[in-house]
Amino acid sequence: MAVLLLITKNNTKSNNPTVTPELEIIPDREIILEIIPNATYGELMKQANTTPEVANAIFEAAQEIYDLSKIRVGRELKLIYDKDTDQSKRLIYQIDTEEELYVILQGDGSWQAERKEIKYEVRIKTSEGIIESSLYETGLEQNLDEVIIIKLADVFQWTIDFAMNIRKGDYFKFIYEERYLDGEYIMPGKIFAAKFINDGREYAAYRFEDAEDSYGYYDAEGNSMQKIFLKAPVSYKYISSGFTTGMRYIQAFNVSTKHRAIDYAAPYGTPIKAVGDGTVVRASWFGGYGNFISIRHNSTYTTNYAHLSRYAVSYGQKVVQGQTIGYVGSTGFSTGPHVHYEMVKHGTKINPQTEDFPNTDAIKETDQEKFNEIVEKYKNKL
Ligand SMILES: [Zn+2]
Repeated sequence: MAVLLLITKNNTKSNNPTVTPELEIIPDREIILEIIPNATYGELMKQANTTPEVANAIFEAAQEIYDLSKIRVGRELKLIYDKDTDQSKRLIYQIDTEEELYVILQGDGSWQAERKEIKYEVRIKTSEGIIESSLYETGLEQNLDEVIIIKLADVFQWTIDFAMNIRKGDYFKFIYEERYLDGEYIMPGKIFAAKFINDGREYAAYRFEDAEDSYGYYDAEGNSMQKIFLKAPVSYKYISSGFTTGMRYIQAFNVSTKHRAIDYAAPYGTPIKAVGDGTVVRASWFGGYGNFISIRHNSTYTTNYAHLSRYAVSYGQKVVQGQTIGYVGSTGFSTGPHVHYEMVKHGTKINPQTEDFPNTDAIKETDQEKFNEIVEKYKNKL
């Protein structure tokens, strides 16, 4: 059964003697249908006493923008009824964090669909913290939304290995958006600028959106923060949980112990990402390595990923940076779920932590002036 919530806003002032009913503005009635597991569009509309004809007409009109058979659990369908006729005249559904679907009754009785940008109230915030054990824990102590902590880690995902290289006393400060609707906090938005001091080295990143609406983060000189390889093959959000519970099983690159790899402990099934673009040159069992993937990136570099529980790619496939190639497991010679990650340069296993990789494209010359203004705007606030 779906939950039906009936909101009638026009009776809220009934105990106020100074308002005469004649002068009261009666707003349109709205019904909010919460989408619970297994609820279908048709059932929800039926519960709202919508006729099958109207429900169908709305469904058909919406089709070119959104397939209402794919409504998501946890969201809601909002139906607005005309205050004079009490006929449904509008259906609203939140497509994603940026847009809503509106299906609106037209004068001729037909329905028309359109997408509308959600107009959040944006507040600019600055947060900072000194890391005691992990970025995640420090972030939560500062009452930061988990989502913004991960976004902050993403800005530096080519620069800092948050699982391996965070030091006590590391420091971060960043300027970002918080989005509100009707005064209620909804979620964080963009990060405009961020500073991170890791092991005594300071990094600063500034967001820049070009004319084509694509964005990236750049240092103060306009060099891209993005590099040809990610620092780690597992997203910060998965490794951090192991970190905070103290169940971390991690082995670093160590020439003397002959462990020429980095082990990232993460729960079974955690997605493993390709650290760079390339071609899968192996995706099969490999002795003590268990399920094993090898990606050739260029004539210089290859990366290997071992002990997987499952593959998400196959031999010969082209992959892009950040693409899920498999899932964490403990196959082969392994004592617990982790990914054993190797980087090979001209046939020799090297330490990816200490290797310097080239940046991707810098700010275009035509954008340089605009970018400098952004740096000027935020530099002193960091
Ligand atoms: Zn290992």
